[in-house]
Amino acid sequence: MDCLRCGTCCTAPDIAALDKPVGLRCPHLGDDLLCTIYEERPPVCRTHRPDEICLKIAAPTPEERRARYLELFGLVAEAERIRALKITSMARARALPPEEPGAGGAKKR
Ligand code: SF4
Ligand code: SF4
Repeated sequence: MDCLRCGTCCTAPDIAALDKPVGLRCPHLGDDLLCTIYEERPPVCRTHRPDEICLKIAAPTPEERRARYLELFGLVAEAERIRALKITSMARARALPPEEPGAGGAKKR
């Protein structure tokens, strides 16, 4: 499939090569949802190709596509916690202790 240039793969997943945590926008993603360091982007970005996930997260806006990605992989609570704690490093996010039951995060409906 063709890439829709939605920016979700630069926003939703964590990316070790960039120390980017789950749910936060890569600092190199431009307002036009294109990579601002395209020629120097890391290998993980160079080798990434659109796949069936890009279809599974179909939604009208980039924000909704990111939300669908996080839902698809069960990452909503983790992303909310990272955002609430203002963590910008994947390594720091992964070093967080497990959340206590009832301590916040996404509520199940
Ligand atoms: S999530 Fe898929 S469609 Fe969107 S920019 Fe990444 S590869 Fe392209
Ligand atoms: S470096 Fe570029 S391609 Fe890689 S996640 Fe950031 S914006 Fe996307």
